[in-house]
Amino acid sequence: MAVDRRTRADGRQGRGVKTQLNLQFSSTSAEQALPGLPPPGARLEKLISAARHNETAWRRFRALELALMSADGLDELVALLLVQAPVDMDWDAVGLHLIDGDHEVRRLLLSRDQADGSSGAQVRWLTDELECAAAFAAREPLPRLGRYQPERHEDLFAQPEAPPASVALLPLLRGRRRLGAYAIGSCDPDRFHHSLATDFLQHLAAVISICLETAIHREQLRHLGLTDALTAVGNRRYFDQRLDEEMMRAQRARAPLGCLFVDVDHFKGINDRYGHAVGDEVLQMIAQRIRSQLRGADVVARYGGEEFSVLLPQADLARAADVAERIRRAIAEAPVAISGSIDLLAVTASIGVATYTGTDGDGDAHSRRLLSAADTALYRAKQQGRNRVERARQSIG
Ligand code: GH3
Ligand code: MG
Ligand code: MG
Repeated sequence: MAVDRRTRADGRQGRGVKTQLNLQFSSTSAEQALPGLPPPGARLEKLISAARHNETAWRRFRALELALMSADGLDELVALLLVQAPVDMDWDAVGLHLIDGDHEVRRLLLSRDQADGSSGAQVRWLTDELECAAAFAAREPLPRLGRYQPERHEDLFAQPEAPPASVALLPLLRGRRRLGAYAIGSCDPDRFHHSLATDFLQHLAAVISICLETAIHREQLRHLGLTDALTAVGNRRYFDQRLDEEMMRAQRARAPLGCLFVDVDHFKGINDRYGHAVGDEVLQMIAQRIRSQLRGADVVARYGGEEFSVLLPQADLARAADVAERIRRAIAEAPVAISGSIDLLAVTASIGVATYTGTDGDGDAHSRRLLSAADTALYRAKQQGRNRVERARQSIG
């Protein structure tokens, strides 16, 4: 009887509740030994032990599901699935495959990840389900269990150098929509035997799917509230939030934090001469050119009107001024083509640079002084003829 071996006290998946119920009926019907079966006492013992094992397994699945449902955001959910779940459930390998044709979920995850790590980096992102045939081979929504087959399952796990011996593949579905798949591997070849009941795994797949969908929706809403609709960079609210975070991080690490204010020169004239729509195009171009000069961890936002703000973690005054000069050149060196006109529009911007040194003290006060210093430097750049970079006279902190 496989029940004992496969429904272990460590919560491993076993034949499940269905098997138990069948056996319970048979045990009540006869108190004497039946041909080919162990004596009733031994059967009862096995039943009790199987019931205990199943209960333990159920508790562990329930604990994991509760943790998934309490996850605060997409990044935490992904970290739970990829890092915490294998430890808690005693799984030897996992892989999370998410379908994200337009790269939106990836970007949302990345925007949160900038704060604390790289859970998004371990997700396998797919354009569509054809991209990972092994994960989506079955059309039916049930989990599939079986032996690990290198030629089919190689792509499923984040650690291909240590392939498992058996595999459970959980399709992640919401209605008819396929979100992706979650692969679980064990070194035990019988752990995910194809004949085992899949009730717990099926329930887990449903919970993961609901949690993922909800987290993605929440992330989309949050993102909309923090993004500038015209230029697609952050808005002022986003910048203020990120300034608080980056200030705390700089203080913890005693690392510098650079700040730039970029203001388009004579922008009112562009609007007056070519119209508001052309002005909008210019703002989009400026945002794009600023972005092109920044690293992933840098922050850019439209601070208001035709003014952009940038945060440069780890940048001292010299480095921040260097980035500012690159941005200035990227904007000034290539005139902008105007839609519906043969005119090429020369656009320039002035940039104020300031830095915080990473010392202790009141973070809010340091933030205010940093912004004010960048603003004063920008004012000087305007006064001294525009299309130039001016540094604050001294660092903050
Ligand atoms: P300076 O070189 O001193 O910065 O001059 P400026 O003309 O750029 O500055 P000013 O503050 O006089 O004008 C900014 C203009 O930006 C005025 C405002 O109508 C325009 N503006 C603000 N937001 C938008 C927008 O979203 N789209 C467009 N097209 N124009 C905008
Ligand atoms: Mg301006
Ligand atoms: Mg301005």
